[in-house]
Amino acid sequence: MAARKLFSGPDDRRIKRALCIVAHPDDIEFYCGGTVLKMTARGVIVDFVLATSGDKGARDVSKSRAKVARLREREQEAAAYVMGVKRVAFLRHPDAELVEDLELREELVREIRATKPDVLLTFDPNVGYRYHPDHRIVGRVALDAAWPCARDPLTYPKAGEPHETKEAWCFAGQQPTLEVDVGDVLEDKIEARLAHASQTPSPAGLRRRWRYSARAERFHQVDLR
Ligand SMILES: [Zn+2]
Repeated sequence: MAARKLFSGPDDRRIKRALCIVAHPDDIEFYCGGTVLKMTARGVIVDFVLATSGDKGARDVSKSRAKVARLREREQEAAAYVMGVKRVAFLRHPDAELVEDLELREELVREIRATKPDVLLTFDPNVGYRYHPDHRIVGRVALDAAWPCARDPLTYPKAGEPHETKEAWCFAGQQPTLEVDVGDVLEDKIEARLAHASQTPSPAGLRRRWRYSARAERFHQVDLR
């Protein structure tokens, strides 16, 4: 995988479909919500895949994990609606327990082949410590699934027709090669983030902070062809 770049950004007309693969509800809004909004605004079909439903993302230990997961899935669907995204797939692995294995890889191959993205948005796996292990793992497995597994017909032959994703945009890493100004869609990005009400003790505070801090999204582009 060379470090060549193909697409110029979310406005690139060659992008018709995009897929976001993340670990938890609200990962997308935090790292690439504005980029998603810019794409859906011009008719790009964007799909979401979440490896977990964030079932440990609650401070209140009286709620069951199943209940937390259901609530957070509903919040993610509401956020997707704000972003113009119709399909959210929940793989329902336990939160904070993702492992790099062939089962997860096959599930992601199936999602990539079903949605046929031109560009894959996921976590940058090349990071140091103090990084959520689910983020690191989902990034690694998503990139392995996209290249070469989803492309090769003899790999997981029962997981759908082969598909070549052209490029990956990896977020949360240390060496971005693409910066996207999302100022024009910032208010919608904030609304999408606020749909995760269970994760937002102070909506007004978040709104204030994000108006300053959430204007740029950064990606490391990886050529997958
Ligand atoms: Zn996360």
